[in-house]
Amino acid sequence: MPELPRHPPPRAEAHVDLEAIRHNVRYLSGAASGAATMAVVKADGYGHGAVQVARAALGSGASWLGVCTLEEALELRAAGIEAPVLSWLHLPAEDFAPAVTAGVDLSVASVRHLAAVLDGARRAGRHARLHLKIDTGLSRNGCPPADWPELLDAVEKAGEAVEVVAVWSHLAYADQPHHPTIDLQKGRLEEAWELARARGFAPIRHLANSAATMTRPDLHYDLVRPGIAVYGLDPLDRPVPESPLRPAMELRARVALVKRVAAGEGVSYGHEWTTPRETTLALVPVGYADGVPRRLNTGGRMQVHLAGAVRPVVGRVCMDQVVVDCGDDRVAEGEVAVLFGAGAGGGPTAQDWATELGTIHYEIATGVHGARVRRTYSGSGAGLDGAGE
Ligand SMILES: *Cc1c(COP(=O)(O)O)cnc(C)c1O
Repeated sequence: MPELPRHPPPRAEAHVDLEAIRHNVRYLSGAASGAATMAVVKADGYGHGAVQVARAALGSGASWLGVCTLEEALELRAAGIEAPVLSWLHLPAEDFAPAVTAGVDLSVASVRHLAAVLDGARRAGRHARLHLKIDTGLSRNGCPPADWPELLDAVEKAGEAVEVVAVWSHLAYADQPHHPTIDLQKGRLEEAWELARARGFAPIRHLANSAATMTRPDLHYDLVRPGIAVYGLDPLDRPVPESPLRPAMELRARVALVKRVAAGEGVSYGHEWTTPRETTLALVPVGYADGVPRRLNTGGRMQVHLAGAVRPVVGRVCMDQVVVDCGDDRVAEGEVAVLFGAGAGGGPTAQDWATELGTIHYEIATGVHGARVRRTYSGSGAGLDGAGE
């Protein structure tokens, strides 16, 4: 019996190139017109690992981190990260004391939320740092302009218990840089900021996500908040060779079984594909439970890069596996198949998947299932937390 390796390679892995993260953050902070850069690491760093990405970003031009939830903010603090962190989506009934204690900046969009934050600050025994969010036209989170004076009243009344760090908002059409709503939202942000200044506050302003960071210098203000571009996925959907960004994640899996199959055999559930000739099939052990959408191979259009060529996935995507047609080429068990990545050798990208599925690459990256797909890293800092290769 052959000796088994002590650290067997993972079945499926989402490999993250931290050098690509660094490259992208350097590019974005260089593009930011002198504004500070907040790397958005919500949703576990868009599926790339929040802590690893945060460290790489802070070392290459970012000075802030942005997250959605208090849990995400506290995970960064628990990892020893001390940079300013903004958390922006909360229930009014949450316990804000741990976040205030940890020095997490909090977005507030209503007097109800402010009351909960003040309660947390009182129990934490220190003041809360607030980013007051104005709804400038997305009609999602944020204080409607009509309620803004009342929110400012409540903030004024809170006195020393709070520090007003920023007035901020989020765009509806950032990916269409000339869309008329952008100027409308910009004007509303500036009005809200002026009203805050009239109360004696001196907040900074921030509005730009990735797309606006890359296309609208007039929206950079004091701080930009790129997310998707940090991960190298182009917010304007330019193909990889034309984008200044480098995709950081490669989803890959090792071939589990290779075999010759006779002509006329049906492949995978429902026999949607039948071998037109005798051929070599490679079984790649990754499927919809790993975040490979089953719909992706509708019409047989999914491909992988394997053994030096781009090859078709044949038949249905299963829960745990897909089958790749290799014709008469030699493919070895254990070889790495790339499902999506930076497009090397003409291989598929997350953008290709998104186009095929009629969605956006954000959903592809965050859809890789962390519980099943092992995350590995390369680049300096990869060995921290034992998460390296
Ligand atoms: C997710 C998010 C961002 C980052 O957006 P990208 O389009 O990924 O750059 C910025 N600001 C807020 C409020 C967000 O929710």
